[in-house]
Amino acid sequence: MTKRSPSASPEFNVREFFARFPNEDACLEHIMAVRFGGTTMDCPDCGTVGVTFHKLRERRVYACPECRFQIAPTANTILHDTRTPLVSWFYAMYLFCTTRHGVSGKELQRQLGVTYKTAWRIGDQIRKLTEKAQTFDALLSGHVELDEAYIGGRTSGGKRGRGAPNKTIVMGLVARDGRMAAQVIPNVKKETLRAVVLDKVEAGSVVSTDELYSYNLLTGDGYQHGTVKHGQKEYAYYDYTTGVNHHVNSVEGFWRLFKASIRSTHVAVSPKYLPRYLSEFTFRANHRARVNGMFDLLVGAL
Ligand SMILES: [Zn+2]
Repeated sequence: MTKRSPSASPEFNVREFFARFPNEDACLEHIMAVRFGGTTMDCPDCGTVGVTFHKLRERRVYACPECRFQIAPTANTILHDTRTPLVSWFYAMYLFCTTRHGVSGKELQRQLGVTYKTAWRIGDQIRKLTEKAQTFDALLSGHVELDEAYIGGRTSGGKRGRGAPNKTIVMGLVARDGRMAAQVIPNVKKETLRAVVLDKVEAGSVVSTDELYSYNLLTGDGYQHGTVKHGQKEYAYYDYTTGVNHHVNSVEGFWRLFKASIRSTHVAVSPKYLPRYLSEFTFRANHRARVNGMFDLLVGAL
Protein backbone atom coordinates (compact mmCIF):
# COMPACT_ATOMS: atom_id res chain seq x y z
CA MET A 1 0.00 0.00 0.00
CA THR A 2 1.21 3.47 -0.86
CA LYS A 3 2.13 5.57 2.18
CA ARG A 4 0.11 8.73 2.34
CA SER A 5 1.18 11.92 4.02
CA PRO A 6 -0.46 12.84 7.33
CA SER A 7 -3.15 15.49 7.22
CA ALA A 8 -1.16 18.25 8.91
CA SER A 9 1.17 19.76 6.36
CA PRO A 10 4.43 21.26 7.57
CA GLU A 11 4.39 23.75 4.71
CA PHE A 12 0.88 25.18 5.15
CA ASN A 13 -0.48 24.80 8.65
CA VAL A 14 -3.59 26.51 9.93
CA ARG A 15 -1.65 29.38 11.52
CA GLU A 16 0.07 30.09 8.24
CA PHE A 17 -3.30 29.94 6.52
CA PHE A 18 -4.78 32.71 8.68
CA ALA A 19 -1.57 34.75 8.45
CA ARG A 20 -1.83 34.60 4.66
CA PHE A 21 -5.58 35.17 4.45
CA PRO A 22 -6.60 37.28 7.45
CA ASN A 23 -9.44 39.13 5.69
CA GLU A 24 -11.56 39.59 2.55
CA ASP A 25 -9.03 41.84 0.80
CA ALA A 26 -6.23 39.29 1.20
CA CYS A 27 -8.43 36.58 -0.35
CA LEU A 28 -9.51 38.80 -3.22
CA GLU A 29 -5.92 39.81 -3.90
CA HIS A 30 -4.95 36.14 -4.06
CA ILE A 31 -7.73 35.40 -6.55
CA MET A 32 -6.47 38.39 -8.57
CA ALA A 33 -2.95 36.93 -8.43
CA VAL A 34 -3.97 33.43 -9.50
CA ARG A 35 -6.47 34.46 -12.19
CA PHE A 36 -4.90 37.68 -13.53
CA GLY A 37 -1.26 37.38 -12.52
CA GLY A 38 -1.48 40.11 -9.86
CA THR A 39 -2.70 43.68 -9.57
CA THR A 40 0.02 45.19 -11.81
CA MET A 41 -0.57 44.73 -15.53
CA ASP A 42 -0.99 46.51 -18.85
CA CYS A 43 -4.51 47.93 -18.62
CA PRO A 44 -6.70 46.01 -21.08
CA ASP A 45 -8.82 49.14 -21.64
CA CYS A 46 -6.59 52.26 -21.84
CA GLY A 47 -3.42 50.29 -22.58
CA THR A 48 -1.27 51.97 -19.91
CA VAL A 49 1.75 49.74 -19.40
CA GLY A 50 2.49 48.27 -15.96
CA VAL A 51 -0.29 50.07 -14.12
CA THR A 52 -1.24 48.92 -10.61
CA PHE A 53 -4.98 48.37 -10.16
CA HIS A 54 -6.35 49.37 -6.78
CA LYS A 55 -9.12 47.81 -4.80
CA LEU A 56 -12.40 49.72 -4.52
CA ARG A 57 -13.68 50.07 -0.98
CA GLU A 58 -16.53 47.71 0.02
CA ARG A 59 -16.61 46.04 -3.39
CA ARG A 60 -14.94 42.93 -4.84
CA VAL A 61 -13.54 45.06 -7.65
CA TYR A 62 -10.17 46.53 -8.74
CA ALA A 63 -9.89 49.64 -10.93
CA CYS A 64 -7.27 51.10 -13.26
CA PRO A 65 -6.02 54.42 -11.76
CA GLU A 66 -5.73 55.93 -15.26
CA CYS A 67 -9.10 55.15 -16.84
CA ARG A 68 -11.20 53.63 -14.00
CA PHE A 69 -11.57 50.38 -15.98
CA GLN A 70 -12.74 47.72 -13.52
CA ILE A 71 -11.80 44.08 -13.01
CA ALA A 72 -13.84 41.83 -10.72
CA PRO A 73 -11.54 38.92 -9.81
CA THR A 74 -14.53 36.76 -8.84
CA ALA A 75 -16.47 37.39 -12.10
CA ASN A 76 -17.61 34.14 -13.73
CA THR A 77 -16.66 32.13 -10.66
CA ILE A 78 -18.77 30.40 -8.01
CA LEU A 79 -17.81 33.25 -5.65
CA HIS A 80 -19.28 36.01 -7.76
CA ASP A 81 -22.43 36.66 -5.80
CA THR A 82 -21.83 34.60 -2.72
CA ARG A 83 -22.90 36.15 0.57
CA THR A 84 -20.49 33.89 2.45
CA PRO A 85 -17.22 35.71 3.23
CA LEU A 86 -14.31 34.81 0.95
CA VAL A 87 -12.28 33.91 4.04
CA SER A 88 -14.86 31.20 4.82
CA TRP A 89 -14.64 29.82 1.29
CA PHE A 90 -10.86 29.87 1.45
CA TYR A 91 -10.84 28.14 4.82
CA ALA A 92 -13.22 25.48 3.49
CA MET A 93 -10.88 24.91 0.52
CA TYR A 94 -7.97 24.74 2.94
CA LEU A 95 -9.77 22.05 4.96
CA PHE A 96 -10.37 20.04 1.77
CA CYS A 97 -6.67 20.24 0.92
CA THR A 98 -5.43 19.17 4.35
CA THR A 99 -7.94 16.52 5.40
CA ARG A 100 -7.30 12.83 4.89
CA HIS A 101 -10.83 11.47 5.19
CA GLY A 102 -12.80 14.32 3.61
CA VAL A 103 -14.87 17.15 5.06
CA SER A 104 -18.50 16.60 6.00
CA GLY A 105 -21.27 19.18 5.77
CA LYS A 106 -21.59 19.04 9.58
CA GLU A 107 -17.89 19.78 9.98
CA LEU A 108 -18.08 22.77 7.61
CA GLN A 109 -21.18 24.01 9.41
CA ARG A 110 -19.26 23.97 12.73
CA GLN A 111 -16.02 25.43 11.38
CA LEU A 112 -17.60 28.19 9.28
CA GLY A 113 -20.58 29.05 11.47
CA VAL A 114 -23.04 28.83 8.58
CA THR A 115 -26.27 26.87 8.15
CA TYR A 116 -26.04 23.19 7.23
CA LYS A 117 -27.57 23.95 3.85
CA THR A 118 -24.91 26.56 3.07
CA ALA A 119 -22.16 24.31 4.40
CA TRP A 120 -23.30 21.41 2.25
CA ARG A 121 -23.44 23.63 -0.82
CA ILE A 122 -19.93 24.97 -0.19
CA GLY A 123 -18.59 21.41 0.14
CA ASP A 124 -20.35 20.37 -3.06
CA GLN A 125 -18.97 23.38 -4.95
CA ILE A 126 -15.44 22.62 -3.77
CA ARG A 127 -15.80 19.02 -4.95
CA LYS A 128 -16.84 20.42 -8.34
CA LEU A 129 -13.66 22.52 -8.31
CA THR A 130 -11.61 19.35 -7.81
CA GLU A 131 -13.31 17.92 -10.93
CA LYS A 132 -12.55 21.06 -12.92
CA ALA A 133 -8.95 21.15 -11.71
CA GLN A 134 -8.37 17.61 -13.05
CA THR A 135 -10.05 18.07 -16.44
CA PHE A 136 -6.82 18.45 -18.35
CA ASP A 137 -4.63 16.09 -16.34
CA ALA A 138 -2.18 14.14 -18.49
CA LEU A 139 -2.81 10.45 -19.13
CA LEU A 140 -1.39 8.02 -16.59
CA SER A 141 1.72 6.30 -17.83
CA GLY A 142 4.57 4.01 -16.86
CA HIS A 143 3.16 1.21 -14.75
CA VAL A 144 -0.53 1.57 -13.88
CA GLU A 145 -2.61 -0.58 -11.51
CA LEU A 146 -6.35 -0.94 -11.99
CA ASP A 147 -8.87 -2.30 -9.54
CA GLU A 148 -12.63 -2.00 -9.26
CA ALA A 149 -14.64 -1.46 -6.10
CA TYR A 150 -18.33 -1.60 -5.19
CA ILE A 151 -19.64 1.33 -3.19
CA GLY A 152 -22.83 1.84 -1.23
CA GLY A 153 -26.04 -0.09 -1.57
CA ARG A 154 -27.07 -2.87 0.75
CA THR A 155 -24.32 -3.96 3.10
CA SER A 156 -25.99 -6.26 5.60
CA GLY A 157 -27.58 -9.55 4.73
CA GLY A 158 -27.31 -9.06 0.98
CA LYS A 159 -24.67 -10.19 -1.43
CA ARG A 160 -21.31 -8.50 -1.17
CA GLY A 161 -18.94 -7.41 -3.91
CA ARG A 162 -19.64 -8.25 -7.52
CA GLY A 163 -23.30 -8.56 -8.34
CA ALA A 164 -24.52 -7.04 -5.08
CA PRO A 165 -27.68 -4.96 -5.58
CA ASN A 166 -27.73 -1.16 -5.44
CA LYS A 167 -23.98 -0.85 -5.48
CA THR A 168 -22.15 1.60 -7.68
CA ILE A 169 -19.18 0.19 -9.55
CA VAL A 170 -16.06 2.34 -9.54
CA MET A 171 -12.74 1.82 -11.27
CA GLY A 172 -9.51 3.11 -9.76
CA LEU A 173 -6.21 3.60 -11.54
CA VAL A 174 -2.97 4.26 -9.68
CA ALA A 175 0.32 4.77 -11.49
CA ARG A 176 3.41 3.58 -9.68
CA ASP A 177 4.70 7.18 -9.91
CA GLY A 178 1.81 8.10 -7.56
CA ARG A 179 -0.60 9.78 -9.94
CA MET A 180 -4.11 8.38 -10.07
CA ALA A 181 -7.64 8.57 -11.44
CA ALA A 182 -11.00 7.00 -10.60
CA GLN A 183 -14.40 6.92 -12.20
CA VAL A 184 -17.85 5.39 -11.93
CA ILE A 185 -18.47 2.68 -14.54
CA PRO A 186 -21.91 1.41 -15.60
CA ASN A 187 -20.95 -2.29 -15.76
CA VAL A 188 -17.97 -4.62 -16.02
CA LYS A 189 -18.44 -5.58 -19.65
CA LYS A 190 -15.23 -6.05 -21.63
CA GLU A 191 -15.75 -2.95 -23.75
CA THR A 192 -16.46 -0.77 -20.71
CA LEU A 193 -13.29 -1.95 -18.97
CA ARG A 194 -11.21 -1.53 -22.10
CA ALA A 195 -12.58 2.01 -22.65
CA VAL A 196 -11.43 3.08 -19.15
CA VAL A 197 -7.85 2.11 -19.98
CA LEU A 198 -7.90 3.69 -23.46
CA ASP A 199 -9.29 6.89 -21.93
CA LYS A 200 -6.91 7.19 -18.96
CA VAL A 201 -3.68 5.31 -19.70
CA GLU A 202 -1.03 6.18 -22.25
CA ALA A 203 -0.50 3.47 -24.88
CA GLY A 204 2.60 1.40 -24.27
CA SER A 205 2.21 1.51 -20.49
CA VAL A 206 2.42 -1.54 -18.27
CA VAL A 207 -1.03 -2.33 -16.82
CA SER A 208 -1.68 -4.57 -13.81
CA THR A 209 -5.21 -5.76 -13.06
CA ASP A 210 -7.01 -8.62 -11.42
CA GLU A 211 -8.74 -11.30 -13.48
CA LEU A 212 -11.72 -9.04 -14.20
CA TYR A 213 -9.63 -7.81 -17.12
CA SER A 214 -9.35 -11.01 -19.08
CA TYR A 215 -6.02 -12.02 -20.50
CA ASN A 216 -5.31 -10.32 -23.84
CA LEU A 217 -8.10 -7.74 -23.43
CA LEU A 218 -5.55 -4.90 -23.62
CA THR A 219 -2.56 -6.34 -25.43
CA GLY A 220 -4.08 -5.53 -28.84
CA ASP A 221 -4.16 -1.86 -27.80
CA GLY A 222 -0.43 -1.76 -27.17
CA TYR A 223 -0.43 -2.21 -23.39
CA GLN A 224 1.75 -4.67 -21.54
CA HIS A 225 -0.91 -6.34 -19.43
CA GLY A 226 -0.47 -8.65 -16.46
CA THR A 227 -3.13 -10.03 -14.14
CA VAL A 228 -3.20 -11.38 -10.62
CA LYS A 229 -5.78 -14.06 -9.90
CA HIS A 230 -7.48 -12.80 -6.75
CA GLY A 231 -10.02 -15.61 -6.98
CA GLN A 232 -7.13 -18.04 -6.50
CA LYS A 233 -5.59 -15.95 -3.68
CA GLU A 234 -2.78 -14.77 -5.90
CA TYR A 235 -1.84 -11.21 -4.92
CA ALA A 236 1.31 -10.62 -6.93
CA TYR A 237 2.69 -12.01 -10.13
CA TYR A 238 6.30 -11.54 -11.13
CA ASP A 239 6.70 -11.77 -14.87
CA TYR A 240 10.17 -13.21 -15.39
CA THR A 241 10.20 -12.49 -19.13
CA THR A 242 9.71 -8.73 -18.61
CA GLY A 243 10.89 -8.27 -15.02
CA VAL A 244 7.56 -6.63 -14.11
CA ASN A 245 6.00 -7.20 -10.69
CA HIS A 246 2.24 -7.21 -11.23
CA HIS A 247 0.04 -6.40 -8.25
CA VAL A 248 -2.77 -3.95 -7.46
CA ASN A 249 -1.87 -3.18 -3.84
CA SER A 250 -1.62 0.60 -4.32
CA VAL A 251 -5.07 0.97 -5.84
CA GLU A 252 -6.53 -1.41 -3.23
CA GLY A 253 -5.04 0.91 -0.61
CA PHE A 254 -6.85 3.84 -2.21
CA TRP A 255 -10.19 2.00 -2.13
CA ARG A 256 -9.68 1.08 1.53
CA LEU A 257 -9.08 4.73 2.40
CA PHE A 258 -12.01 5.88 0.27
CA LYS A 259 -14.51 3.39 1.72
CA ALA A 260 -13.39 4.01 5.30
CA SER A 261 -13.61 7.77 4.75
CA ILE A 262 -17.09 7.65 3.27
CA ARG A 263 -18.23 5.51 6.22
CA SER A 264 -16.60 7.66 8.90
CA THR A 265 -17.03 11.16 7.45
CA HIS A 266 -20.14 11.03 5.33
CA VAL A 267 -21.87 7.79 6.48
CA ALA A 268 -23.17 7.31 2.94
CA VAL A 269 -22.97 9.02 -0.43
CA SER A 270 -25.71 8.76 -3.03
CA PRO A 271 -24.71 7.40 -6.46
CA LYS A 272 -25.57 10.79 -7.96
CA TYR A 273 -22.79 12.54 -6.03
CA LEU A 274 -20.27 9.70 -5.95
CA PRO A 275 -18.26 10.97 -8.97
CA ARG A 276 -17.60 14.24 -7.13
CA TYR A 277 -16.36 12.45 -4.02
CA LEU A 278 -14.08 10.30 -6.18
CA SER A 279 -12.77 13.45 -7.76
CA GLU A 280 -12.11 15.01 -4.35
CA PHE A 281 -10.08 12.00 -3.24
CA THR A 282 -8.06 11.58 -6.45
CA PHE A 283 -7.34 15.32 -6.47
CA ARG A 284 -5.91 15.11 -2.96
CA ALA A 285 -3.96 11.94 -3.76
CA ASN A 286 -2.45 13.51 -6.88
CA HIS A 287 -1.30 16.70 -5.16
CA ARG A 288 -0.69 15.64 -1.56
CA ALA A 289 3.01 16.44 -1.79
CA ARG A 290 2.28 20.17 -2.07
CA VAL A 291 -0.66 21.57 -0.11
CA ASN A 292 0.07 25.13 -1.26
CA GLY A 293 -0.03 24.02 -4.89
CA MET A 294 -3.22 22.05 -4.26
CA PHE A 295 -4.87 25.10 -2.75
CA ASP A 296 -3.92 27.31 -5.69
CA LEU A 297 -5.20 24.73 -8.18
CA LEU A 298 -8.59 25.06 -6.48
CA VAL A 299 -8.42 28.86 -6.61
CA GLY A 300 -7.43 28.62 -10.28
CA ALA A 301 -10.45 26.39 -10.96
CA LEU A 302 -12.92 28.82 -9.34
ZN1 LIG B 1 -6.84 51.81 -17.78
